[in-house]
Amino acid sequence: MGLNQLKEILTRVDGKGYKAYKEIQGTYIENLIQYHLDYIQADPFANPSRIRVAISQRLAGFEPETYYLLHRKVGLEDFLARSVANVLHGKQGKIRIDEPGQEILPRTAVKVDKEFVEVRLTLSLPAAGRTILGKEAAQILCRELPSLIQMAILKVDRTQLNRQLELCDQQQAIRDYLEREGYVAFVQDGAILPRESGRSNRPLRGDNLVPFLSPDSLRVSIPVPHRELPMTGMAVRPGVTLIVGGGYHGKSTLLKAIERGIYNHTRGDGREFVITNETACKVRAEDGRRVEKVNITPFISHLPFGQDTEQFSTEDASGSTSQAANIMEALEMGCQVLLIDEDTSATNFMIRDARMQALVSKGKEPITPFIDQVRHLYEEHKISTILVIGGSGDYFDVADCVVMMEEYQTKDVTQSAKEIANRISNARKTEEGMKFGKLALRTLSAQSFDQLRGPKVKLEAKGMDFIQLGTAKANLRYLEQLVDPSQSRAIVQMIRRVSQLVEIQQVSLREAIEQVFMEIQKEGIDIISPYRGKHPGDLALPRPFEVAAALNRLSSLYVASVT
Ligand code: ADP
Ligand code: MG
Repeated sequence: MGLNQLKEILTRVDGKGYKAYKEIQGTYIENLIQYHLDYIQADPFANPSRIRVAISQRLAGFEPETYYLLHRKVGLEDFLARSVANVLHGKQGKIRIDEPGQEILPRTAVKVDKEFVEVRLTLSLPAAGRTILGKEAAQILCRELPSLIQMAILKVDRTQLNRQLELCDQQQAIRDYLEREGYVAFVQDGAILPRESGRSNRPLRGDNLVPFLSPDSLRVSIPVPHRELPMTGMAVRPGVTLIVGGGYHGKSTLLKAIERGIYNHTRGDGREFVITNETACKVRAEDGRRVEKVNITPFISHLPFGQDTEQFSTEDASGSTSQAANIMEALEMGCQVLLIDEDTSATNFMIRDARMQALVSKGKEPITPFIDQVRHLYEEHKISTILVIGGSGDYFDVADCVVMMEEYQTKDVTQSAKEIANRISNARKTEEGMKFGKLALRTLSAQSFDQLRGPKVKLEAKGMDFIQLGTAKANLRYLEQLVDPSQSRAIVQMIRRVSQLVEIQQVSLREAIEQVFMEIQKEGIDIISPYRGKHPGDLALPRPFEVAAALNRLSSLYVASVT
């Protein structure tokens, strides 16, 4: 059937009750373009209808050589999704695409392979009350939609597209360089780190903006493709790095940029060349969260009433126990870099000074502060830490590198910090923490997902911050490296997949998540959707760390054993 037949049906159902729209479900083909009307909403207030437009590569002509590398494929699909969104912007139309934010993420919005470019859209079919507006629907589906595809895909600006692919090549080259040379993060000279406001992800503009400039001692030059001169900037070495400086001088802004460097950013973000080891995890205090059988003994032991800290569980963690659990859970998933900001840390977790040590004897204090474990973490497990700390010079003793922010300028003050540490002796005693100890894996109990069995269970993400699976809920608000609501929707589907794996075999939380990522690597992100071969829903790929974090916060999570 072609679009003419679609128009005929729509003319026929014009003026009927909304349910008659169901008749248009199906596939229509015109000029090497397939219009799949996969799901037609049952009433005007239901979730919008889902449509895929598959354009033959004979028409679209994106050469496989240009995108056979994964980072280029992601860059291409991302660019085409933005292109569709841009064409839709000016219009007050009813067609939507899952528009990318400033991060370039693998997402379901556009899928490119050898045969097709497939664009996944949603559409609220027009109605007056519950009466079908068939002519308007025909206008949208048979005219606006083909013209959208013309403009956004077939006439896409190939020069701009090429620039985006080159950007992705450069970002990948920096990632490869960091990996090869063993650096933890890179912040390019000239990068714009501050954001417009606390609620906006857009770069700050104006006269008071200070672009990033590396201290000479920390500067590296990285050769990148599509550019004659190498890229220069600050490379963070492995070990313990402190970011110090006065209040409001840009410490948190630098750390935040590094946090987000796990993702590639699109042109114009300002942080295109801020690149961080992909396993880097921001950890913070999160009092009130649930914890299920996490070994927090490296940081906390001897709790009142003999509460277990090797398999610590609580429905309501404190600041320090939540921060300890957040760290241990990140390590369980293979995190190699911890990112910590004093602004969002529990003070008693970070430090206990000499006077407090004198007053409260070690026997009465369950906490081994982070300062006494940070070196063990590096020496035993090669886990590096980047730490914003303006409030305690005690950390000079354990740092490999100290960077100071002064009026948004970066200085290497490692030498001075070490001198001061020698000159002003520290009466503080190093506490316990003789060793950090082994990292545990937790085996999931199938019970965790009992609520997912049976028909019609609710599986949904409410915005970015809440997910619900049956009766179980998780609050994702404090996952600072989750950036897109489509990632939260993907997390819901990935947990569903984890629940299936757990039913077949005993697996650890880490193995189960890794298994799901392996499936995605092989088959693409569509694989996690329950709608095979149809519009998969609006999904974007999170990291394994955020999937684990969501599971760890799920109200029904139950751990069978710890090894
Ligand atoms: P700190 O953590 O040192 O207290 P922040 O990083 O929170 O400071 O930054 C304080 C303010 O300065 C923020 O409003 C931030 O947007 C702004 N800021 C940070 N870096 C820069 C910069 N390079 N240029 C201009 N303003 C900046
Ligand atoms: Mg701060």
